[in-house]
Amino acid sequence: MIKNENNMYVDAHNHLDFYGENIGEAISDINDNKIITLANSMDVDSYILNKEYEKQSEYIIPTFGIHPNSVSEFAGELKDIIPYIEESTLIGEIGLDFLWVEDRSLDSKQREIFYFILDESIKRSKFVSIHTKNAEQEIYEALKIRNYNKAIIHWYSGPLDILDKLIELGCYFTISVDLGYSDLTEEVLKRIPLDKLLVETDGPTALEWINGDYGYPREIKNVVKSASIIKGIEEQKLIEVIYNNFHRIIN
Ligand SMILES: [Zn+2]
Repeated sequence: MIKNENNMYVDAHNHLDFYGENIGEAISDINDNKIITLANSMDVDSYILNKEYEKQSEYIIPTFGIHPNSVSEFAGELKDIIPYIEESTLIGEIGLDFLWVEDRSLDSKQREIFYFILDESIKRSKFVSIHTKNAEQEIYEALKIRNYNKAIIHWYSGPLDILDKLIELGCYFTISVDLGYSDLTEEVLKRIPLDKLLVETDGPTALEWINGDYGYPREIKNVVKSASIIKGIEEQKLIEVIYNNFHRIIN
């Protein structure tokens, strides 16, 4: 159960199962810094692990999803994952990836799994955390045609005209650890309305990919600090804004 205090940090997209042997330190970091953490899952096993981590923290919320990178290993029947969708407060990570997933023969399986989970989530009115790599237009159309905006677009890096359409649709967005390293991410941040803004760390390897440093959850503070400068808003105020955005989602 999530501890409710005012104005805590929120990491709206992390992967706790990527910490491996460092998970103890990562969870201590979350607890010491009081970082509400959406622990996104890659698949069923990853979700079960995240539910174990939830027992060690008042700040961790496990979310069920099947990541586009994991669709090749999914061998079960889709109807069997419905109980996970039902019990999970939010859904993630789901989506489509036509860049990093290089095997085009998996496209149809990616779509089958993504649209199944999306539609089952919509039936239950759940927020979904969506990966959109090189699939921005398709995902925009999928949401638009379903008239659905309970979506958190994770680390958007696509065309800016599609970003504007997703903003118009009313989606939420997470800004990640490449803020300060990427002109595109800075421009994305500038366009996101404050009341739709969230931040994330995306697991230890995301920061490593950007600057070589292993990323612990406390990295969220640097993302907030950089975002506050770019948005021209006091850091404490931004923490409050993000916390309020998260609260709107979770309720
Ligand atoms: Zn992720």
